[in-house]
Amino acid sequence: MLEKLKNMQECYWLNENLTSNLEYELNAKGIQAKDIEDARARLNRFAPLLKVLFPATLKTNGIIESPLECINTYKKELEKLENVEIKGDVFIKLDSHLPISGSIKARGGIYEVLKHTESLLLEHKLLSLQDDYTKIIHLKDFLSQYKIAVGSTGNLGLSIGIMSAKLGFKVSVHMSNDAKEWKKQMLREHNCEVITYQSDYGKAVEEGRKAAQNDKSCYFIDDENSKNLFLGYSVAAKRLKGQLESLDITINENRPLYVYLPCGVGGGPGGVAYGLKTVFGQNVKCFFAEPTHSPCMLLGLMTKKHSEISVNDIGLDNKTAADGLAVGRASKLVGKVLEHIIDGCFSVSDENMYKFLTLLHKTENINLEPSALAGVKGLIFNKELKNTHPNALHLIWATGGNMVPKNEMEKFIKEGEKYLN
Ligand SMILES: *Cc1c(COP(=O)(O)O)cnc(C)c1O
Repeated sequence: MLEKLKNMQECYWLNENLTSNLEYELNAKGIQAKDIEDARARLNRFAPLLKVLFPATLKTNGIIESPLECINTYKKELEKLENVEIKGDVFIKLDSHLPISGSIKARGGIYEVLKHTESLLLEHKLLSLQDDYTKIIHLKDFLSQYKIAVGSTGNLGLSIGIMSAKLGFKVSVHMSNDAKEWKKQMLREHNCEVITYQSDYGKAVEEGRKAAQNDKSCYFIDDENSKNLFLGYSVAAKRLKGQLESLDITINENRPLYVYLPCGVGGGPGGVAYGLKTVFGQNVKCFFAEPTHSPCMLLGLMTKKHSEISVNDIGLDNKTAADGLAVGRASKLVGKVLEHIIDGCFSVSDENMYKFLTLLHKTENINLEPSALAGVKGLIFNKELKNTHPNALHLIWATGGNMVPKNEMEKFIKEGEKYLN
């Protein structure tokens, strides 16, 4: 497997160390299943404020949530293209269309900013939990004394930057070399400070962390270790259950759920997977998808070295078109929390992400960024899974794309054309 990873071949790894006591394992690593409820309640307290600050959230009553759609037309075309049979239905979770920042980061990133805001205001007796949170609009001057910093490949910076600036905070975003120019531009338009590095994500985080250490008024959002980010993501699970129920779908042993999550540092997919396991138990299987150039989570789990090993250590360059996934070293937190919970990981080539992107555009008229297509490969790899249920519900977690400028999207689609004979 290590040889395959080194040669950038697509790999499929199944976890042989799954727990036999899921409930115990979910609560054994410093995060408790009940913490998700606390995060959910906090997001509900902020919903009235979000409605005022971001009219795009009016349609969902201030809740940042994305649509769920069935894409069986795509499934049929993919079966033809790849010459495979995919058993069961294929759905897509369109986090690409989440309000405010158009990616999965609108869950974790925004949640952590809100949690920090609430803590500050409670501490200074400017807010109580029973208040109408729309009053926070009038506390901008107070919040402008404080700063928020983050390191990012692009999307986390975008979500944290937009939210923090809107509340009044000063913001510094430390961007890695893969960050797209339009993302930096958008942040500058929101009056965020953008600091760019010629190196990768790990360096951007390190520099952000350092800058914040020397400034007491600065709060650093640490994507490599943050429980808050993780919990913000995890809230998705219970809401997904509600969405499935509204379609008269109940997940059980006769209708198991298979979820394919694009993975960078691990917080986003990790938080969602953790949430899904608390809601659906053994009836959900979660798989992480990574680029062949940056399979940091697969490497960390497989070797049990987690954040102690980077893809550079096995000679990989961490350069991929999937900029949201260009992470060379996995989160310290996530690998440990999920080591006996996550069902598997696989890696995907950039060419395949582009190919899946263009096929989705053509068959369903859904436009995503390359990272968001990584999970599609799971539908094909899963023929190797021994007991794939004929009645399974497969869910592609589409993690970003809605804010990509039109000309960039056209380039993506054109690139994918090359691989669709
Ligand atoms: C950040 C991101 C991911 C993965 O989230 P991590 O927390 O970095 O693992 C997946 N897709 C997109 C589009 C992203 O921006």
